[in-house]
Amino acid sequence: MHRIKREMYRPLWVLAGLILGIAAGLLLQQTPHIVTEWIKPMGTLFLKFIKMIVIPLEIFSIVAGVSGMESVTALGKLGRKVIVFYLATTVLAACIGILSADLVDVSHTALTPAAAVAADPVTVAIPNFWEAILGLVPDNPIAAMASGNLIQVVIFSLCLGGGILMLGDHKERLAEFFHDGFLALQNVVTAIMRFAPVGVFALMTAAVAETGTATLEPLLRLAAGVFLGCLIHIVLVYVPVILACQVKIPTFLRAMAEAMMVATTTGSSSATIPFTSHGLKLLGVSHSIRGFVLPLGATINMDGTAIFQSVSAVFVAGLYGLELDLLQQIVVVLVVTVASVGTAGIPAAGTVMLGMVLQSIGLPLEGIALVMGIEVVLDMGRSLVNTLGDAVCALAVSGHDRGPVDPRLKSRAGWRGPHFLE
Ligand code: ASP
Repeated sequence: MHRIKREMYRPLWVLAGLILGIAAGLLLQQTPHIVTEWIKPMGTLFLKFIKMIVIPLEIFSIVAGVSGMESVTALGKLGRKVIVFYLATTVLAACIGILSADLVDVSHTALTPAAAVAADPVTVAIPNFWEAILGLVPDNPIAAMASGNLIQVVIFSLCLGGGILMLGDHKERLAEFFHDGFLALQNVVTAIMRFAPVGVFALMTAAVAETGTATLEPLLRLAAGVFLGCLIHIVLVYVPVILACQVKIPTFLRAMAEAMMVATTTGSSSATIPFTSHGLKLLGVSHSIRGFVLPLGATINMDGTAIFQSVSAVFVAGLYGLELDLLQQIVVVLVVTVASVGTAGIPAAGTVMLGMVLQSIGLPLEGIALVMGIEVVLDMGRSLVNTLGDAVCALAVSGHDRGPVDPRLKSRAGWRGPHFLE
């Protein structure tokens, strides 16, 4: 419990790292060799640790979630509902991202003339139906893991989880193995996150020293676009679903308080699974639904990430003086939906996957470097939305099978604040 209590102070350290990083970046602008030789590698090291954990975490969380289900029939019935919900909300999120990018005018500032990318015009690479389907299934799962093809790893993990589930009474040993492995990997994520303040300091110093403060104004626009998108999504998509499930908004917020704090402080929706699960238990959602919906959601359902990636695509296009036409915007929505599915619920994963979005509409990958400058702040917002999206889905698919809401959640007096602080 103490460990988690200490984690609550992490955002302050991260914020300190961010501010000190800006200051150090400004001071060291004239001595770039100090930044590139000494400081930047610390940031790169932090990012490498995060990337290292993505694939194992994804495999263990999905296999544990699927193999923890009651039966194959239950899995099939629930699975259909969950996938439809996840896909529909993600497509909506990607569209809302484009809308809020326009509302805030994130593409306002062109840092580089359009001519810079003229040699590499915006090409639209829309795969046809069968190409898209064939691309989901790996020829060789080990090769998919080695090359970091997340969506193929998701498909393989779902199959493996299903295979274990079919063992029926004999599934326990394997199911437990994957469940324990998942918990162990979550501990690794927590350990890596302890270094976030240093990592953020190093990345911020490098970003400011290399690009200067000219980039701050467009970055603020980007942040405004992402946060506005998140707000619109919560109000237009989540609130109506929660109300339709006959749960009052204050009750939902009380149940989710822990999960929301952990999401913003760790920047990882995977790290929130135990907290979201506890909150949903108080709302009466059954163990089997939580066990399947949450790990799967933490892996494939990333509404906040989809909003971030859509806004960032419009933003990066703007940096190069380009405006996306309607067809390109539709492509962004499609690619962002796939990319967010392939994003793991760990810090910075959405920015790594942004590369795929930029590439598919022919934008230079260098745009990511600038987005990275405020990565930490954006990650806090999108991880929160990602976490809420999973919780709302679990609530929605529970339907009539949901038990009563814990009376402690119903009144302010009965609720004594987040449980891990007790
Ligand atoms: N950090 C996000 C999450 O855990 C994923 C992302 O980077 O977009 O949900």
